[in-house]
Amino acid sequence: IDVTKIRNFSIVAHVDHGKSTLADRLLEITGVIKPGKEHAQVLDQLQVERERGITVKAVTASLNYTYNNETYLLNLIDTPGHVDFSNEVVRSVSACQGVIMLVDANEGVQAQTVAVHSLAKKNNLVIIPTLNKVDLPKADPDNVKAQLKSLFNINPDTVLSISAKKGWGIKELLETIIERIPHPNVDSTSEFRAHIIDTWHDKYRGVLCLGYIHTGKVQIGQTVKWRSDSKQQIVKYLALLKPTEEPIEKAVAGQVVMVGCGPRGGGAVGDQLLSKEFVENVESSTTIPPIKHMVYAGIFPADQSQHPVLNDAIKKLALNDSAVSVTADSSPALGQGWRIGFLGLLHLEVFTQRLLQEYKAEAILTAPSVPYKVRVKGAKIIKQYRGDEVIITNPLLLPDPQHIAEYYEPFVIGTIITPVEYIGAVTALCIDRRGEPLPSSAVDERMTMLQFILPLSEVVIDFHDTLKSITSGFASFDYQDDGFHPSPLVRMDILLNGQLVDELTTIVHVSRLDYSARRLTEKLKEMIPRQMVQVAIQAVALGKVYARETIKAYRKDVTAKLYGGDVTRRKKLLKQQAEGKKKMRSVANIKIPRDTFIDVLKR
Ligand code: GDP
Ligand code: MG
Repeated sequence: IDVTKIRNFSIVAHVDHGKSTLADRLLEITGVIKPGKEHAQVLDQLQVERERGITVKAVTASLNYTYNNETYLLNLIDTPGHVDFSNEVVRSVSACQGVIMLVDANEGVQAQTVAVHSLAKKNNLVIIPTLNKVDLPKADPDNVKAQLKSLFNINPDTVLSISAKKGWGIKELLETIIERIPHPNVDSTSEFRAHIIDTWHDKYRGVLCLGYIHTGKVQIGQTVKWRSDSKQQIVKYLALLKPTEEPIEKAVAGQVVMVGCGPRGGGAVGDQLLSKEFVENVESSTTIPPIKHMVYAGIFPADQSQHPVLNDAIKKLALNDSAVSVTADSSPALGQGWRIGFLGLLHLEVFTQRLLQEYKAEAILTAPSVPYKVRVKGAKIIKQYRGDEVIITNPLLLPDPQHIAEYYEPFVIGTIITPVEYIGAVTALCIDRRGEPLPSSAVDERMTMLQFILPLSEVVIDFHDTLKSITSGFASFDYQDDGFHPSPLVRMDILLNGQLVDELTTIVHVSRLDYSARRLTEKLKEMIPRQMVQVAIQAVALGKVYARETIKAYRKDVTAKLYGGDVTRRKKLLKQQAEGKKKMRSVANIKIPRDTFIDVLKR
């Protein structure tokens, strides 16, 4: 294979701007699939992707295309569109030399367009600005070109126009890829080194990896080693993904290939596969930035007997979705489970949906929370916290205030593109969410780009939905991590008749203490059924009660309402009641339905 004939690229865009549709057209024109509806969105393979219409996993496809009598190997790496999966975007982009930046000619530049553009710039990638959906009667290519000019200083003459749906302009796009995107600049004569950008599990062949070969060559039967453990492996499987596997004997630097070392061969995203002679040097130690988890939640089996099934399913899914972090967790109410770190809320939803659909595992989720950080006074004062700074993913593990020198919470830079008439409403929403405005810029006469520094905790739960509803769906939102900022935080506990309920402890901003205390106690009053005794609900922080509610005593006997005769009905009701009790957590003899712990923190 001639490296100068390889082009590695991906398609980046705001959600719904047409990535998957374009990928299908590219597969058709290069003869990989036959035109026709039944093949729609070939790269969106997961069931959840089809149902939600979003792309979750980055998938690759290798295409052959002949141009000026030369055959080129075009490696398309499809990327997910949603902000939660920007991690997957970063990974795919690391194997590319260029991107097609799609913009809907009807909608224009959206918040995520801004994010993917800056990502491509940061990685020194060639950007092919491409307007899609020019077939739509309302498409306004000239205006969108002007937006690209004013926001990114893109020359309007370099912007392509296509219709992925109608197949217009696809040939020109492929030729532009060949002309504008450089071939990978690699050295195929030195030792073999490949960077793993994706992994998945195969029942018979073990872990299969998608790797970008940085240097050297590889072939079936070759002895290799992992950078992480240097144990020797034999290359057993090697294939191009078109996107179905096409086995090959060997591959060279610049190529994106599927590689597997058999059932015990291993492989993990971010790791490197090396020739057995490979010697570590500075160049080979460059890796993709580590994943940052933005949201944590507990996952528990619906029934403890399902623990092994769920354990197996989570392990397999975590291998395929390397963006999650998994640690064991347990709760008096929910039993043994796991605490899982996610990139965002959609990521969390997609993960649990995949657990259900692909592994038939039934799981209970606790309310999500963001990670906090504290600087502990005098290192090693507290045994379990070695070092100055501690990340807190579980509010119960927050050290006592007297040991804490500084609290931090995660912040993001939020980008919002909105019609000008909603600037006031959007600004009010962001200020209400403790946002600090940054300079804004005009997109065109109708649209403005606003930016705010926002606490992540105020964004993760329902910010996006609220933004959509106050702007009639016209505003778009994306965020980039801005690291931890100092912030006055306190731990808030919930007591029932004086006893602490572990699961309901939260960390809140001091300015939100009154509000959170009231909201939580009111919601608990609604959710906890009346008991035989009176129940006092208290929200306590810094030794002070911030809110209090009372549930009056009530003798619950569902059978009392029934007239005496129907014995079977009566028995059935008693049995139901007994089963209901099993799903209760008991604190100070107060029975709390299990759902309470999951629903109470939602707004
Ligand atoms: P993705 O989220 O970027 O992968 O977007 P999709 O490829 O799923 O497309 C989103 C929607 O736009 C789908 O309903 C497509 O049929 C539609 N679409 C994509 N390209 C075009 C186009 O060129 N013209 C028109 N009219 N619709 C398109
Ligand atoms: Mg898609």
